[in-house]
Amino acid sequence: MGATVLGYPRIGPRRELKRAVEDHWAGRLDTAGLLEVGRALRAATWRELADAGLDSVPGNTFSHYDQVLDAAVLVDAVPPRFRALGLPPLDTYFAMARGRDDVAPLELTKWFDTNYHYLVPELAPDTRLALADDPEPVAEYREAAALGVPTRPVLLGPVTFLLLAKPAPDAPDGFVPLDLLEPLLACYAELLERLADAGADWVQLDEPAFAADRTEAELAALRRAYDRLAAPRRRPRMLVAGYFGDLGPALPVLAGTAVEAVGVDLVAGPAAAGRLATLPGLRDKTVVAGVVDGRNVWRTDLRAAAATCAGLLGSVGRLAVSTSCSLLHVPYDLAAEPGLDPGLRDRLAFARQKVAEVVLLGRALRVEEPAVTRGLAEAGEAVRRGRAAARRDDRVRARVAALRGRPHERAPYRERARVQRAGLGLPPLPTTTIGSFPQTADVRRARSALRAGRLDQAGYNERMRAEIARVIALQERLGLDVLVHGEPERNDMVQYFAERLDGFATTAHGWVQSYGSRCVRPPVLHGDVSRTEPMTVEWSAYAQSLTSRPVKGMLTGPVTLLAWSFVRDDQPLAATADQLALALRDEIRDLEAAGLRIVQVDEPALRELLPLRAADRPGYLEWAIGAFRLATSGASATTQLHTHLCYSEFGDVIDAIDGLDADVTTIEAARSRMTVLRDLRNAGFGRGVGPGVYDIHSPRVPSAEEVAEALAEAVRSVPPERLWVNPDCGLKTRGYAELEPALRALVTAATQTRGAL
Ligand code: GLN
Ligand code: ZN
Repeated sequence: MGATVLGYPRIGPRRELKRAVEDHWAGRLDTAGLLEVGRALRAATWRELADAGLDSVPGNTFSHYDQVLDAAVLVDAVPPRFRALGLPPLDTYFAMARGRDDVAPLELTKWFDTNYHYLVPELAPDTRLALADDPEPVAEYREAAALGVPTRPVLLGPVTFLLLAKPAPDAPDGFVPLDLLEPLLACYAELLERLADAGADWVQLDEPAFAADRTEAELAALRRAYDRLAAPRRRPRMLVAGYFGDLGPALPVLAGTAVEAVGVDLVAGPAAAGRLATLPGLRDKTVVAGVVDGRNVWRTDLRAAAATCAGLLGSVGRLAVSTSCSLLHVPYDLAAEPGLDPGLRDRLAFARQKVAEVVLLGRALRVEEPAVTRGLAEAGEAVRRGRAAARRDDRVRARVAALRGRPHERAPYRERARVQRAGLGLPPLPTTTIGSFPQTADVRRARSALRAGRLDQAGYNERMRAEIARVIALQERLGLDVLVHGEPERNDMVQYFAERLDGFATTAHGWVQSYGSRCVRPPVLHGDVSRTEPMTVEWSAYAQSLTSRPVKGMLTGPVTLLAWSFVRDDQPLAATADQLALALRDEIRDLEAAGLRIVQVDEPALRELLPLRAADRPGYLEWAIGAFRLATSGASATTQLHTHLCYSEFGDVIDAIDGLDADVTTIEAARSRMTVLRDLRNAGFGRGVGPGVYDIHSPRVPSAEEVAEALAEAVRSVPPERLWVNPDCGLKTRGYAELEPALRALVTAATQTRGAL
């Protein structure tokens, strides 16, 4: 296999696929037009990868929405509610992704510890798995072959597919998706045969689920799967790739099967390199060494990577080099960023540059050419030079060092609660929102006018102030107790801070798929972080000046700033988190000085960075909580500190939430309120808490009765003096038409419940 990559971005260098898919949904582009856009994107990718000199080009990395959804449709795992719609295939596919009329979509959740989201397949004992008549991977193989590019189709591995799936709502107790292993393997075996018929020499099966802790039964399923799939004689050679961490006990399992190649992630799990040589099963296999980071944007130290590879030569059958995982997680091309500082650019590699790195490494393994050796040395030198030149702020380092390791205690919670109650004068069951209000067309127009130079900063600020005044007046009219300024000035809760902190850079076209047609542009955190001036005070103070009710200052927490950026890899994440925390600590002090009595520090990504293996979790939680407390513990006891968590189930980190020591935690709960409340109760959570009472992700407007019911349920788990009433999450994706009646229902329900108590 020589040099390869495990996957490639698919949204198009200019987000062509996003536009096409959204146009299709809006009825502006017909199915044929959409399919044509996909075909062109695939052709361009195959040609680019082949021309770049990869020895093996991955195929089937395209998707109209999500590769897990593709895998479900490939084996006809279409739940009855979508089948009943009677739609053509592509419409059924999008209905599963997005829902339709009254039919709820599949659940969307995070792809391991990344910010990519996949759709969760639903399986039941009576799900009849069957290979699609015209399987997409075969069609795409033929399509590429016709263009002269033989590809290595990439498939979601059958065991990971089942481990990511969930039992359908009506599945009997005790059913687990893994029960469907045999029929699923039959589909995969048939697919492999069809791919062989089409001429495929290799296939890649991804099993990242084995980078997390797995039971004996799950490891046995892995063994069974690859014994079964490797048995037939007529099939392509198989590469099984595990990534996002060390495969641990799954590595010897795979080594013991008859598959021809095993892919290991030596970036996220470098320790595996040492174990590869000890596995006799690998002596007649190819090991695909993932030494180029597929998840981050730093240039690879190719000299070091070559040394890692050289250490493996001789102890495994054959060696190939690749990225650690699919390049789906990084932007396309650094060449699209002429505006970046040249010193920083020299340290970066996006997908296209990473392909070139892998090609050079592959050549280095084969031949000893002076040009290649020089290339490796140059890359090593560039990384060394880049690190040495990284922005350094000794003052920040000294301050962090002085604060590090301190317990970061505020006054005891009870005492704080007492002084805050007296100071804020809030009713029981106070009502509030999570921060953002709808980003109106007007707000967005003002932002693009500012960018284009059609509006000056003073004019822009004027427009934002007008918006803030409108949002404050609305909240007063609705009768909310704790107000927000609405965040109109923020394009994004991470980018906004990245643009204001030293040590970050932002890109012009660095888009990465988050889910479906949604893309994000993570900032690059490249050096020491410091704050040169207040970042949010102007807006929050203005909002507070308009009302006698308390306004919440609104900040993004250190863990979330890290999780949604590309972060420097030359020092531990913990050290970077502390620098971010310090900047926030200073910001909180300034907010207090400006008269804000409540500050919210959002940490929606707290759960996302949780390590895949349980053994690594305590270490992570320690620094993550430490950073949050470093950020917040400078606040006076009279300042009420809120945090907000969402996008996950928090049962397994509930102690950590307690450790944040926030006075109030608002938490997404509308979709699984029972679970959240039970978890909080079981953990004996003793602080203020606002389990979201309605789902803001849906355009549905809840009635006051519904909200009151949710509150009645919450009151059974959380004593009323600690209970807050709020929606699930920020309101920025909603429209005012839904928002006003929804918030009115929320206030009505809170008032009624208060009365009843
Ligand atoms: N304060 C942010 C908002 O309301 C929180 C966003 C989030 O939870 N992701 O938009
Ligand atoms: Zn949220």
